[in-house]
Amino acid sequence: MYNTEVIKIKDSLIKDKAIDKIAETTAIKKAAQHLLNNEVVAFPTETVYGLGANALEKQAVSKIFEAKGRPSDNPLIAHISDKKQLPVLIEGDVTGVAEILINEFWPGPLTLIFNKSMRMPQVTTAGLNTVAVRMPSHPVALALISKVNLPLAAPSANSSGFPSPTRAQHVYNDLNGKIPLIVDGGICNIGVESTVVEIEENIVNILRPGGITRRMINEVIGDSYQVKIADTAEVNRPKSPGMKYKHYAPRTPLWIFKNENNLQELLNDYNINNRETLVILSSETLNTVDKNTIKTDLKNMGTINNLEYIAQNLFNLLREADQKSYELVLIEEVPNRDIGEAVMNRLKKAAVKII
Ligand code: AMP
Ligand code: MG
Repeated sequence: MYNTEVIKIKDSLIKDKAIDKIAETTAIKKAAQHLLNNEVVAFPTETVYGLGANALEKQAVSKIFEAKGRPSDNPLIAHISDKKQLPVLIEGDVTGVAEILINEFWPGPLTLIFNKSMRMPQVTTAGLNTVAVRMPSHPVALALISKVNLPLAAPSANSSGFPSPTRAQHVYNDLNGKIPLIVDGGICNIGVESTVVEIEENIVNILRPGGITRRMINEVIGDSYQVKIADTAEVNRPKSPGMKYKHYAPRTPLWIFKNENNLQELLNDYNINNRETLVILSSETLNTVDKNTIKTDLKNMGTINNLEYIAQNLFNLLREADQKSYELVLIEEVPNRDIGEAVMNRLKKAAVKII
């Protein structure tokens, strides 16, 4: 058991992207010391909060799996703050489309898969011959990684299976007593995890949709490359094993519905007015819904014209839903485009029923 400490970094330092000043704060000094002692530390990234440990130390990385209760065949992403940290992680040079993507999207929410170096312990990559790497853009993450000058293996800082944490409080709720320190850097502004891509000759294969959208990738890679979203069967092969597990789910059963008609049907078929139900819906649907017939609690997720906002708040909404004792949470699907692809990917994994 740890006496979990939470230390906040000043908002103004984050807003100013003052990486050098952040690196000199007590929070980062303490965090770096823990990491050098092979302990784990939670820290903010632009996607979600990460639970970091020295990616090159088996003993340190094992503590991540332990604290989260993460299955040991689910590999971790190594986070770096400088391209100079790549050679210790990967085998060979970065060329071709990988280089184009890195130049365009790092630092940022894009993870690339490379052949792993001999230095990478098996525990980090869950026994795979490949390693996933990204450079986050959050100034606190960059300050911490450069301060320790080590690649940090860092999955989301939640209990395995539950919604990812986008605020320090979410991390605390899940991991209090299980880790020594949470660095609080406010709310994560992307709100869903990074896009994971694998490159096969002239194909960019998206293993997990995330903060960098398919459209953004298409726009930079030119005609000689093709982008595709890996199908589920492919993702469940050893390629991205993490995707096969139940993920992101609130404790309350979550159902996805399509539209208002659908909601009316549910009302009749499942008698939802007489069950403790929360309905999370877009502002468009909220405006048209007949409040005389739908008597459940209603929660606005925002307009479908701002999918970024919906993504940013998604995991917080799912976590809030668990704070009241609902029997059921219904959430409306969002358009499967741009960052909506990542939102729908997470919702489908979190849901027990898709209407
Ligand atoms: P998380 O750390 O929870 O954000 O999950 C990391 C994601 O990256 C999981 O879906 C993993 O399956 C995927 N991943 C990590 N390493 C690899 C790898 N070497 N090959 C394919 N996918 C990977
Ligand atoms: Mg995760």
